[in-house]
Amino acid sequence: MKYTGGCHCGKVRFEVEMEIGKPISCNCSICQKKGTLLSFAPTKQFTLLQGQNALTDYQFHKHVIHHLFCSTCGVTSFANGSTPDGQEVKAINVRCLDGVDLDKIEVIKYDGKSK
Ligand SMILES: [Zn+2]
Repeated sequence: MKYTGGCHCGKVRFEVEMEIGKPISCNCSICQKKGTLLSFAPTKQFTLLQGQNALTDYQFHKHVIHHLFCSTCGVTSFANGSTPDGQEVKAINVRCLDGVDLDKIEVIKYDGKSK
């Protein structure tokens, strides 16, 4: 499926080819506070349509994931990460995809806190 999405103010917009599947609700220190619901897509299936300059990068812990957010509205619509075998992935905040009914999606709890 091809989805479009972005932040709240509209500066950050992207397009991604992915299956939402069952997004994760993670209890790690940042996801707990942000409330993101994440599904993952290979970076090559993701296109940032606009907003490169609007993104602020936040890193902590092992500095593996780039927790990007819009510097105007503060919304995290996606993050840059990598799989254990080194493939680049986009962690898409399913809450920021256009036209997705979150009430129809099953969410899996992920214990990121213990990782
Ligand atoms: Zn914004």
